[in-house]
Amino acid sequence: MAVVSKELFYEHITSETPCSVLHLWSSSCMDGISFVAVNVLVGAIKFFGPIYVLRLLLSWKKISPKYLLTHALAYARAVTYGLTFSILFFGGLCVLCNINGFKYYNNPKIAGAVSGLSVLVESQDNKTFNSLIFFNQTVESFVNFLTYSTDKKRSPIGETLVFMLISSTLMYLFKTQPNSIPFLHLWFYPTGSLSEQEPSQANCTHKKSCFEYGYKGAFKFFCVGYVLELIKNMLPRTGRVFSQPKMLSQMLLSRKNVLFGLFFGSYVLLYRHIGCYLRKKDGGEFPIHSVVAGLLAGSTYYLKPNRQIPIIGFTTILQLLWQRILFKYNLPKIPYDLLVFMISNGILMHFRFLLDDYCPKYTLNMLNITTSNLAQHIHDRMSCLMNHTEKEYNIVV
Ligand SMILES: [Zn+2]
Ligand SMILES: [Zn+2]
Repeated sequence: MAVVSKELFYEHITSETPCSVLHLWSSSCMDGISFVAVNVLVGAIKFFGPIYVLRLLLSWKKISPKYLLTHALAYARAVTYGLTFSILFFGGLCVLCNINGFKYYNNPKIAGAVSGLSVLVESQDNKTFNSLIFFNQTVESFVNFLTYSTDKKRSPIGETLVFMLISSTLMYLFKTQPNSIPFLHLWFYPTGSLSEQEPSQANCTHKKSCFEYGYKGAFKFFCVGYVLELIKNMLPRTGRVFSQPKMLSQMLLSRKNVLFGLFFGSYVLLYRHIGCYLRKKDGGEFPIHSVVAGLLAGSTYYLKPNRQIPIIGFTTILQLLWQRILFKYNLPKIPYDLLVFMISNGILMHFRFLLDDYCPKYTLNMLNITTSNLAQHIHDRMSCLMNHTEKEYNIVV
């Protein structure tokens, strides 16, 4: 059982249920949280380690003793963020339980939102990056909830059509962006705004021939897609991959990586070729070209349907619209990224512990690794409570 509805929750949890059902390893809250902290320290070191090693490898040209020290400090900051997150979340659950009894269905949401404050430990770039990742995961949870709870089967054609519309809108918004303020986003192929370019002309502005421009972009983005999918599949299995060389070769040759690379590469190829063709046909570049090119290039999604890409497209549309609002109106200066992170985190924790059928795989993996599987144990414990089955857990770090 992976979905705990409000009714089921209130049927099995009473005001007498102690919060120690969440920290089975100790009846004391302080000891319970200390145990979580030790496990998360180990888990966060394991989770952020490969990410920071990869970042270091990607910036190998900059490596110097000073750079290594900065990098090590950033890694320590990330581990501290993970540790603070867990203490605030589990501590929050215990505090709420002692205030209102372990009977309030929204406790994980509130404790999750409060634990979002932990991101303040991170640098500004990482704060924004974490907010983006968590916001995307939250949108994915809702998409999963809406599609799975209505028993709708996944339709690659339907998803492709939705992606085509998202891609078309997104490329139009990039092209007509009124300001050129750079901002962090996760979309793989952003284009420059027409307002930043020279007055429109019939000839293409790229140096190479249109053919070469299209194919060079396609090759580059094929590699980007291939590597991204490879890293995504490798990160949760880093330890096993290096101890089992056969697994590494299987992952390198995986059809999934090639198809994902082909999706990225052919998207860029189509987008560029259609753009060049329309520019010559109409004697200049116009925003409507991005609408058409984005729409048709979006059809390549069918090669490797992956819900995360349309979701990233959708959230980037929201970001672009938000940029326009910021540009037009003088809004109060408050940390919007922190607010987004806290709200997203509250919702994600609710999905993780009460509705995990709809929780994105990335969130499940991330929490299992960073908590050394304690998140899974706590979830299983909840399931036992709901089923009136008791089970002894041997939790070993
Ligand atoms: Zn407690
Ligand atoms: Zn061209």
